[in-house]
Amino acid sequence: MLHHVEENAPLESCGLLAGNHARVEKVILVRNQAQSPVRFVMGPYEQLRAFEWIESHALELVGIFHSHPAGPEMPSATDIAEAAYEVVQIIWSRPNGGWSARGFWIEDGKAVEVALSIHGR
Ligand SMILES: [Zn+2]
Repeated sequence: MLHHVEENAPLESCGLLAGNHARVEKVILVRNQAQSPVRFVMGPYEQLRAFEWIESHALELVGIFHSHPAGPEMPSATDIAEAAYEVVQIIWSRPNGGWSARGFWIEDGKAVEVALSIHGR
């Protein structure tokens, strides 16, 4: 994820996280069709293909990530309004120059931070 986020900055980048039981097994990078520094749009065809891949590997969508190269560290009002799936939303931002990721659960028009942890295999 970090490489994808860094490579696309200052444009926002995005992708899907596939796994099981809230554990990520596979990161699927998706092109930001909007090619914008303040917005991301996943191409419907690419998204469909990703969902087919996830299903054919007996995984499920557990998260969606995108970057905010110019901040903020949390989901924007647009992110909250457009959150279409009940999965963790990961936002990459660089508040102090270095990239970091924070996870949020969006429900009823509000974003609540959730803890992320990194596990080895
Ligand atoms: Zn956003």
